[in-house]
Order: sequence, then structure tokens, then C-alpha cells
Amino acid sequence: MTQSTDVVVVGGGQAGLAAGYHLRRQGLDFTVLGADPAPGGAWQHMWDSLHLFSPAEHSSLPGRLMPTQPGETYPDAGHVVDYLVDYEKRYDLPVQHGTRVGAVRRDGDRLLVEADTGTWRARAVVSATGSWSRPFLPAVPGRHLFAGRQLHTVNYRRPADFAGQRVVVVGGGNSGAQIAADLALDGHVEVTWATRRLPRFLPDDIDGRILFDVATARRRALDEGRGDTVGVASLGDIVAVPPVRAARDAGLLTARPMFPRLTATGIRWADGSRSDADAIVWCTGFRPALAHLAPLNLRDERGHIATDGTRAVGEPRLHLLGYGDWTGPASATLIGVGRPAREAARQIRDLLI
Ligand code: FAD
Repeated sequence: MTQSTDVVVVGGGQAGLAAGYHLRRQGLDFTVLGADPAPGGAWQHMWDSLHLFSPAEHSSLPGRLMPTQPGETYPDAGHVVDYLVDYEKRYDLPVQHGTRVGAVRRDGDRLLVEADTGTWRARAVVSATGSWSRPFLPAVPGRHLFAGRQLHTVNYRRPADFAGQRVVVVGGGNSGAQIAADLALDGHVEVTWATRRLPRFLPDDIDGRILFDVATARRRALDEGRGDTVGVASLGDIVAVPPVRAARDAGLLTARPMFPRLTATGIRWADGSRSDADAIVWCTGFRPALAHLAPLNLRDERGHIATDGTRAVGEPRLHLLGYGDWTGPASATLIGVGRPAREAARQIRDLLI
């Protein structure tokens, strides 16, 4: 069955909800299609101990402040899921969960959105599919020889799953530091942390609030032609959230330079020495989940879709929301996605009237 609407939003996480909030304010008819059977986006899949790197009041979507979580300065992932469930209900957003979009293609003056439950004819599409479903693993020689367990950030849950084991955590970003800290503080896991370059901890008093301010100031400077300012990257990579700080201060977070090769039983370091391991946790990042946009042929030779703000340069009826700074400063954060969502909805309204 084919249904018609002004706008289809693909993705029912925080970016999809923020888009819905602003499309409603623009008076547009829309449907949100989300592959996860339940609300909450990636937050429902995070590991048990994960907490936000900003306080609740600095982690809100447009229109509704995230309530504080009793006893926690930095809310946990479950609190974010509750907030998103409530947000969706409060604004009565038409989200069809459990609906995966396989393709978006051109069909004359409409875009055809093909999902596993039906097809939608839309005048515009907002893609807000995040990156959680596209974990990235680097091509390290010997990776396929290793006989132990290999998992990515997306599969990690809790230290108890590794009790008594030797675990190598790979990756010098926030996920790597937090998972290495989680395992090390547990006391029952032998942790080795391997990073491509020396981990750079942000000063202890810097959390997500400051990162957001820096990202916004950088974007503004670029927009006003004042050139690039010192971006977030210049400050460091790792937010010193309380468990990371505790593990670091206890001397449990000492990284070794990335190993060049895996063996059947573990890793071989650059100096030729070896360490046996039971498991490798690859905290090596994500790529945007954009496979459904392939029929539109928008990728350049580097595989990138060019955008002007959130609007795809090669298809003005398509907006990309929430993937990172290339779709709006800090747009891959709770507090940062509101602004580009508002701008996308405004541009779609202008296009459709
Ligand atoms: P997601 O939450 O991933 O939602 C995308 C939705 O799209 C999913 O529900 C998925 O099922 C659906 N989808 C995917 N493909 C399709 C398809 N083809 N058809 C239909 N639906 C589809 N941000 C902060 O503000 N504060 C933090 O402290 C913070 N910590 C983070 C910690 C980690 C470990 C990670 C990975 C990210 C963190 N972020 C944080 C960043 C960001 O806020 C989250 O990644 C957030 O989940 C991004 O929201 P999203 O809506 O863009 O994507």
C-alpha cells in the first residue's frame, strides 16, 4: 500500500523526534519511520554504566527540558530513553516504530520511501538514521586469525561478561576510555588499552556544555567568514566523566600505542612482544547509516554526501540531520540537534509552499 504525506522522517531517535517537533510547528503533514521496535534510538542499546557527559538541563531537545535524574548530575542512558519516550508522547509525534526504510528514490516530483511495511510518497525526506547501526572496525592484519571474542562498542554491556578474562580495549576516544575504565574499575578483568595516538583527556572541569559552546562558536566563525577557530578537537578527545577520572587517577588508564597485528592468541606489539587475550573490544567509531539513500546517487568519490547545512546539495528535497558537524554544529548531540532540525523544517516549508 502506498501512502502520501508532505514529509517522511527516516529514523525515530532523538534527531527524528527533533525533526518531528519542528515539522509540526511549521504546520506540515509528516510521518516518522523508525527501525527500532521501541522508542529511544541508540540510547536503548548502550552499555549499563553509560552516563551522559552533560547534566540533564544541557541535554534537552527543543521545547522540553530534560528533567534531572535523582542522585545523578550526569543522567544514565535509561533516563534518556524515558525522556525520549515522554517527548514522543507529549508532542503526539506520529512515529511508526519497527519500520525499516530500505530505499529512498526519486519518482517525478515526489520521493518514494520504501519500507518493510509499506511505501510512502513524500514531497521531502529527512534522513535521521544516526550511526549506531554502522559500527566501524579497522582492517588490522590478523584480525580474522584471532580465536578469542571480538566485539564492538555496540555489543559491550558490562564487566561481569568478562570476569577473569584478559581484555584488550582499542580506541582513544570517549567510548574506548569509558569502556576501559568500566572494565578496569571492576577489578575482575585484566585490561589493556591500545590507542593510535596518546589519549588526550580534556581538563576535568570541561564537560559537554563547553564542547557544545566551542562547536557553536566555531560554526559561527566559519559562517561569518572569520576563518576556522580552535575547534573542540584542540581541547582534547576524552571527556573526564567521573569513572574515567577515577580510573585515570588510580593509574588504571594507561594506554599503549596501537599494536600492528593480531595473532591467533592475542596481539603482537610493534617491538615484537606478544600479549595473550581472551577478547578484543573495538571502540573504533561509527559511520553514518546512509544505505537507504543509495538510489539517489548522492555520494561523491570519497563516499560523502555534500550538504549545505542539512540540505543535500544534489537533492534539495532531502535533509540529513544529526550525523555530526557536517550536518550542523554538534548536531549528533541531544542539545545540538534542535537548531539544525528547526532550520531543516523551515527550509522544507519554504520549498513546499
Ligand atoms: P540514533 O539514536 O542512532 O537513532 C537513529 C534511529 O534511526 C534508530 O532508532 C534506528 O533504529 C533508526 N534507523 C536507522 N536506520 C534506519 C532505516 N534504514 N530505516 C528506519 N530507521 C532507521 N550525545 C549527547 O548529547 N550527550 C552524550 O553524553 C552522548 N554520549 C554518547 C555516548 C556514546 C557511546 C555514543 C555512541 C553517542 C553519544 N552521544 C551523546 C551522541 C548522540 O547523542 C547519540 O549517538 C544519539 O543516539 C544520536 O541520535 P540520532 O537520533 O542521530 O541517532
